[in-house]
Amino acid sequence: MPVITNHRQRLKNMMLVAFGQRKMFQNLIPALLHFCVYLGFIIINFEVLEFIIDGIFGSHRFFAPYLGSLYNVLLNGFEFLAVAVLLACLVFLWRRNIIRVPRFWSKEMTPWPRLDANLILLIEIVLMIAILTMNASDQVLQTRSEMYPSTGKLLVSSQAIPLFSTLNTKSLIIIERLSWWFHILGILGFTVYITYSKHLHIFLAFPTTYLAKLTPHGKILTMPFVTQEVKTMLGMENENPEVQEAPKRFGAKDIDDLSRVNLLAAYSCTECGRCTAECPANLTGKKLSPRKVMMDVRDRLEVVGNSLSKGGPGLNDGKSLLGDYISKEEINACTSCQACVEACPIMINPLDIILELRRYVTMEESKAPETWNAMFQNIETNFSPWKFPINDRFNWFNN
Ligand code: SF4
Ligand code: SF4
Repeated sequence: MPVITNHRQRLKNMMLVAFGQRKMFQNLIPALLHFCVYLGFIIINFEVLEFIIDGIFGSHRFFAPYLGSLYNVLLNGFEFLAVAVLLACLVFLWRRNIIRVPRFWSKEMTPWPRLDANLILLIEIVLMIAILTMNASDQVLQTRSEMYPSTGKLLVSSQAIPLFSTLNTKSLIIIERLSWWFHILGILGFTVYITYSKHLHIFLAFPTTYLAKLTPHGKILTMPFVTQEVKTMLGMENENPEVQEAPKRFGAKDIDDLSRVNLLAAYSCTECGRCTAECPANLTGKKLSPRKVMMDVRDRLEVVGNSLSKGGPGLNDGKSLLGDYISKEEINACTSCQACVEACPIMINPLDIILELRRYVTMEESKAPETWNAMFQNIETNFSPWKFPINDRFNWFNN
């Protein structure tokens, strides 16, 4: 297993890209909206801490007596954030479903990924409404019973007080409790749901950015064993003293040939489609979509994992990532331009997987396209992709 080095740079990447969302800010408006939802997810969850304490100890607004006027400031902050999250989610729903931003409607965005994205947005909206409803009914109850500690005026939810003040106390208690239960069960349900959803990226973006390649994008990593063999053949000195064992397979045919970082990236992919929207192959009508590559790896992992957990054949089910999920036509369309790598907001590298699949086709199956074979032949004999003798390489310069 490769040794992970340069922890300082990796930590910096993680803090800037995953925590600070730096790459999102290439497109300001969606970035700001996404930042609101992200901030809401982190900060409003502090309020959930009080929900849990109240639930365990049977208290009501456990922190209110301890925090004094700070409690009011915090709750007002949460409420403004709740409104920002609510509005951001509405805009996201509008972009996805009404104006239909093309990257959310490309071929690989089948009904399930589209539903998944919409469901999360709807859940967030309902959870925010539940918080505001709970606070509004609670403020009315504070005027009717001493059991409800004062929160001070909450600027957003107090706007709904005229709606609630006409209700009798029993109805208000039911609304307040239902909102409380709805919110806590919603949060717990959400926590379970995201493990089945693309929203797992909330957590996995952190290790993914930490483990991302640190080499420049244009540097395509060679295979150490092949480098060693070529250098030995050419009588060159090998700077790497470690003797490389031949891998069990050159390149990748199925998920077990990919690195763990590749597999982690598949589960981290947000399905945002920024990579596909920038991919020149996709833009010129080719079958390739780097987002689909990531989704296919995840789908294959799911199938193999589910099969193994039921005692099934797992990887030996007669299928493989290459062929049954990703076709040769797709991988051959890639220009290795790295635009997808540059576009990804969480430093995922779909090209890494494409290159491994192509290596398998070329080195294990010897089935690279004919035109590529001619190029390989030229490189082998002329040390360049063109059909010029090696001695003519500088003719252009001399003339
Ligand atoms: S590297 Fe390949 S997959 Fe990525 S953007 Fe370029 S052509 Fe598309
Ligand atoms: S690989 Fe990156 S850019 Fe592409 S869909 Fe996934 S998260 Fe978005």
